[in-house]
Amino acid sequence: MLLGDAATDTALHLLPCANVAADPLHRFEIDPAMLLAAHKAARAGGPAIIGHYHSHPTGEPAPSSVDAAMAQGTGELWLIVGRDGTLAAWRASPTGRLHGRFDPVEMTASPHPDLAPIATQGH
Ligand SMILES: [Zn+2]
Repeated sequence: MLLGDAATDTALHLLPCANVAADPLHRFEIDPAMLLAAHKAARAGGPAIIGHYHSHPTGEPAPSSVDAAMAQGTGELWLIVGRDGTLAAWRASPTGRLHGRFDPVEMTASPHPDLAPIATQGH
């Protein structure tokens, strides 16, 4: 998950989550317990869930039709790492140009004092 400031689309934390999909090589499904915990933390004043990230180990850093079918389309950000390590950002919306769901987002990276991994639980 990408956690941060929804108002500015700023991701401050990357929260690794288990992929609990039945077919994890071709789909992903965030561990619902981790998703619930992140929502609870956000409601308690923690960083917002602004999107998520995953990789396409054998493909391009662009959303697949499967990604489009799974996307909420509520403005959430999707970061995708392609097979060559290229990172691309996308926004899911009901009117996206790619698969009717995604539009590319320009992304910048900069050092930030709050940028740090969050310890995962349950491992
Ligand atoms: Zn994907």
